Amino acid sequence: MSKTFYPNQTIGILGAGQLGKMLGQSAQKMGYRVEMYDESDSACGFAVSHHTETGSFDDHERVVAFARSVDVLTYEFENINGEILADLHTRTFLPQNTAFLLLVQNRLSEKAWLTEQGMPCADYGEVRSLVDLQAEVERIGFPCILKRTRFGYDGKGQFRLNSEADLAKSTELAGMLEAECVLEAFYPFDYEASIVIARDTFGTIDCFPTVINQHVDGILFTSLTAQVPEAVQTKMTAIATKIAQESELVGVCGIEFFVSNSGEVVVNELAPRPHNTGHYTIEGTNVSQFDQHILAITGRPLLPTRLLTPTLMVNILGQHIPEIPELIKHFPQAIIHLYDKGEPRYQRKMGHFSLMADSMAALEMLVNQDSLIKRWRKAVRTEANT
Ligand code: AMP
Repeated sequence: MSKTFYPNQTIGILGAGQLGKMLGQSAQKMGYRVEMYDESDSACGFAVSHHTETGSFDDHERVVAFARSVDVLTYEFENINGEILADLHTRTFLPQNTAFLLLVQNRLSEKAWLTEQGMPCADYGEVRSLVDLQAEVERIGFPCILKRTRFGYDGKGQFRLNSEADLAKSTELAGMLEAECVLEAFYPFDYEASIVIARDTFGTIDCFPTVINQHVDGILFTSLTAQVPEAVQTKMTAIATKIAQESELVGVCGIEFFVSNSGEVVVNELAPRPHNTGHYTIEGTNVSQFDQHILAITGRPLLPTRLLTPTLMVNILGQHIPEIPELIKHFPQAIIHLYDKGEPRYQRKMGHFSLMADSMAALEMLVNQDSLIKRWRKAVRTEANT
């Protein structure tokens, strides 16, 4: 059932981290009231919320009471308790598809669904014990990556196996295998790319421009609105469109791809919510991923997206915070977003900045020649290796 929600009505957001905050800012800009629910009193999104609730995400009664007090509900993260989610669907207006959310909460069911839909992903197998691991390593071969099926993000809950010697690291492996895992073949990608796709309640689908991403130690470092070869673009757009259609998506979904040097494309991960690789859309496109999500969940038609200017997004991690004055000196034109999350811990995402230029060549030149971005990259590597 589709329903339209108008300005002055209330959007509830489960989770008040940076994604909840930026969703809230979009919603307020459009005239909606915003209420947020989070486990932490000091969640950064609370600064832009008309009303806030603090409680556990597993507190069924409180979450449901919160949901019932708003007109329409959305979430900023995918790990919502399945039982509560099923209940929320019957008690409030939650336009996003719950079945799809439950599916992507687990890497195994996510990959099984992708495979069923005929969509390519790296070879994988289920692992619950050392015996399973041995068998899957024999089948898949080295290098491969053992990942927890749930609650992994930014490369956390992952263990790379390069050779037999890594199979002997019994303490680490036993730690990983306390929970259900998936073993994935290491995909020898040439680059990583992603698309944020949106679908509204009328079934209209719109793809944001593709970005090429650089991760350092499993954490997104930069996203660049680079041109990818047409054949690769066609494959990625077709996969993203099929995912949005088949999942009956409402709102936005981030889709991460690995691209090989022969132009093969596989899906790495799905996230049915605004995505870090889509932050560039705040400045780089005519409508941001956050605006588009709010339009979709309030039952309004999507706006067709277009790139305004080539854009680079760089994440600001805890260790980069002392260098903000230097950043402003290097790039006076940068648009800096700080989320106000409190303690700037090492590797913690504290903000991001966007750099725009008139042409891709100019942007690439700016970035490649700049010592600050190189130093920031190194600041991640050096400390991570110690
Ligand atoms: P994930 O949390 O699964 O997105 O993994 C974080 C990062 O680790 C990815 O963005 C890749 O850089 C790398 N990675 C994860 N899985 C694979 C894989 N199967 N093959 C190659 N690189 C991977």
